[in-house]
Amino acid sequence: MDRNVDLSSSRPTSRLQVRRLVGGFCALFGLACVFTLVALFNIATTLDRQALQQSTFQASQALEQRLVASRQFLSSYAVWDAAYAHLVGKVDWQWAYDEKNVGESLYSASGYEGVFVVEDERTTYALFKGKPTDSPASAHIDSPLAAIIDAARRAAPAREQVTHFVRFNGWPAVLSAAAVRPDKEVTEADVKQAPVMVFVDQLTETKLAVLGKGAGLTGMRLEKSTVAEAGQPHIALGETGYHLVWNTPLPGRQLLHAFLPPLLAVFLMLGLVVLYLFRHALRSSRAIDESLLRLQQSNRALEASEQRFRAVAEAASDWIWETDRHHRLTYLSQRFVSVTGYRIEDWLGQPLNQLLACDTTPLLPWLDNEADSDTQQLANLRCNYDDATGQNRYCRVSARSIIYEGKLAGFRGTASDITDEVAAHARIQHLSMHDALTGLANRNKLSRHLEQALLRGSDSPPLTLLLLDLDSFKPINDSLGHPAGDAVLQEVASRLRDTTRDDDLVARLGGDEFVLALHGLDNRSEIDRFCARLLDLLQQPIGFEEHQLHIGASIGIAQTRAQGYDAGELIRCADIALYQAKADGKNTWRYFSPEMNQQIQYRRQLENDLRRAIKQHEFVLHYQPRYRLDDLRIVSVEALLRWEHPQEGLIGPDTFIPLAEQSDLIVPLGRWVLEEACRNARDWPEELLVSVNLSPAQFSRSDVVADVRQVLLDTGFPAQRLELEITENVMLNDIEGALGTMLALKELGVRLNMDDFGTGYSSLGYLRTYPFDSIKIDKRFIAGLSSQSGNDRAVVQAIINLGKAMGLTVTAEGVETEQQLKALDKEQCHEVQGYYLSRPVDRAAFEALLANREVRQDAS
Ligand code: C2E
Ligand code: CA
Ligand code: CA
Repeated sequence: MDRNVDLSSSRPTSRLQVRRLVGGFCALFGLACVFTLVALFNIATTLDRQALQQSTFQASQALEQRLVASRQFLSSYAVWDAAYAHLVGKVDWQWAYDEKNVGESLYSASGYEGVFVVEDERTTYALFKGKPTDSPASAHIDSPLAAIIDAARRAAPAREQVTHFVRFNGWPAVLSAAAVRPDKEVTEADVKQAPVMVFVDQLTETKLAVLGKGAGLTGMRLEKSTVAEAGQPHIALGETGYHLVWNTPLPGRQLLHAFLPPLLAVFLMLGLVVLYLFRHALRSSRAIDESLLRLQQSNRALEASEQRFRAVAEAASDWIWETDRHHRLTYLSQRFVSVTGYRIEDWLGQPLNQLLACDTTPLLPWLDNEADSDTQQLANLRCNYDDATGQNRYCRVSARSIIYEGKLAGFRGTASDITDEVAAHARIQHLSMHDALTGLANRNKLSRHLEQALLRGSDSPPLTLLLLDLDSFKPINDSLGHPAGDAVLQEVASRLRDTTRDDDLVARLGGDEFVLALHGLDNRSEIDRFCARLLDLLQQPIGFEEHQLHIGASIGIAQTRAQGYDAGELIRCADIALYQAKADGKNTWRYFSPEMNQQIQYRRQLENDLRRAIKQHEFVLHYQPRYRLDDLRIVSVEALLRWEHPQEGLIGPDTFIPLAEQSDLIVPLGRWVLEEACRNARDWPEELLVSVNLSPAQFSRSDVVADVRQVLLDTGFPAQRLELEITENVMLNDIEGALGTMLALKELGVRLNMDDFGTGYSSLGYLRTYPFDSIKIDKRFIAGLSSQSGNDRAVVQAIINLGKAMGLTVTAEGVETEQQLKALDKEQCHEVQGYYLSRPVDRAAFEALLANREVRQDAS
């Protein structure tokens, strides 16, 4: 799965959705409001319009009724025989007015302001507000009367009357006109000249109020047409220029007045509520979005970490386990299957100690103890188990308690398979104590054996040391080659083993030198018998291919009773005796005697010389480069001490360093080497490291930290370019003290290299504990790379892998052949050193090498 998913693309959208939802809701709400308002307005206007129509209808109806009433009222006067008799021609005032037939009551009772009888242009009878008046009708009425009179006469035969709106004394009035006629049938011709009776009913406020009341309307009044508002209901009053108007009832508007404010208030409140809800929804949706996003992110992180964990768990060479509180397995990583061959299901639910066992500590109490100890550091325990094929395997178990809600929930840890490491360790251990070729004990084991024997003291049975050197071995080696030499050595080894008892020790010191440490041989005759038997046995021919090889041996003898101060001394004595035996004609044995002590004398002499040599500066440093294997470039150089002896010539360190160590001379000598190396190396390229060998004696007999510090200060040489080579022997004497010294050295900034790796006692343990930067595989293993046996190769391979696993630079020393170099290249060793690339050379020659390197560098 792609881990780099674009986070923004899958951003949660609930906020957007809420926005849309709320937006939609708001729009809907707004629409509903508008719709309600429009409907309300519609209803209101419809109501108003209906009310308007209704009132107009009522008003016109009322007006019409008034006209009709007025006409009918007039008719009762005009179509009247008596009126016809008294009003046609000369008006009979007596009848009309005095006798009140057409009199004052027309005003006072019926409300007619004007009562006229008109004959064409002549007004024959006129009352104004019930009183007789001389002014003619036309003086009061400002509409042309002729047409009215004419219309009235024409309507007379049908007993009809006419009404008109006129202005009477300037104020609108209803004028009713009817021709005066008898009650019998008349023709048009009969009434052609007939007088016309005119009643004028002025539309006074009082009358209008009565009219309005009758029609159920209020505020009925007259207004000049110009005054009539648009939309105001009105009825035009003929040509008078006045309109009848009234107060229109506006139920719609009232409805609006009544409903609109509370409605708007409700809308407002609803709007506010919606707004609040919207904000609230938005805010909570934002919170939801954020927590969703966080959830997604943490989910993704969780997924990634789970994938990472799975990848690590699957890729790691370790398998991961988990148990519950009762140590029952609850989880095993897939890797478990490939490492152990078991199926995971078969082990889940089983207690951990059913699978793993530790021979030094019971596993479960150890786990519980881990849980209690609340240290953050992972604890390790070496355990073993049988895998599915029944093979015993080792693993390093680390454990940590699982704490859930403050309580112990179980345990969790890894198991690293260290079977190969353990095997390599055992092989190295064995090799460190044994000679690879013959399987006999080596010098290390011999020393230890002797030391232990000597410790037992004088009351223990005596120990006899036989140092044995093969005669005529070299010619065999030279003429028939190494395989023949090896065969001889192996055969000799087996014969030696056969002659000795179980508690005796047979060791090979290297080359054709063997040692037998014999217990319980008390007197010389016994020893003599043994030696005779031994020489006899060794003289038996050895078959190699088609050859019968004949060898002999010389034996030097030393005894704890006589020479037993320390192991080294014992071997030295045997060595001197051996020397004597060889000198006396080989194939014989000699006991050490103090008279043989010329060797010792020689050494004493040498020791004195050494003392003098230090004073007189007879020492020089030779330099042997160390190459990076990748490109065979010089990356470092080892300073090796040489003594330019005035008589004996150049002497190698193996001759005088042990002497110097015995006599404390090593301290000033070591200091000189350090200073000389640093001083010379100052001029060399910056990236070049310089290695200086430190002797264990320097550790125990001087303040090596102070010395190194002083040299660095005096020479100004950068500490990080200085590497100190230390053998495991340093750690043998004083483990704690050595560690302290090394840590202090590291604090100075120098590098530490473990020299001769593989020859010591328990190299691996040292490697883990001590602050080494690099290791040097001892040349013995490198020499073994050329031999047919794969043993050394496997060890070299194991050491390289181990060193790398611990992050150390691994150097192979003593590379003498191209074959070895190739083998190391194959095993991916970091650096190499040896005669094949360069012997140790003096300073000038080394500087030439460096210069050459620069040239090569420039050329390429
Ligand atoms: P070492 O530290 O293991 O040094 C490597 C030895 O192996 C050197 O011997 C070197 O000349 C030799 N050598 C290098 N390449 C090859 C090769 O390809 N084949 C073989 N067979 N040998 C090779 P050297 O110079 O005789 O030194 C012997 C030992 O003396 C050194 O062993 C070291 O332990 C000690 N030594 C040398 N210089 C000093 C020093 O300044 N101080 C102390 N304390 N010891 C020193
Ligand atoms: Ca060295
Ligand atoms: Ca070495």
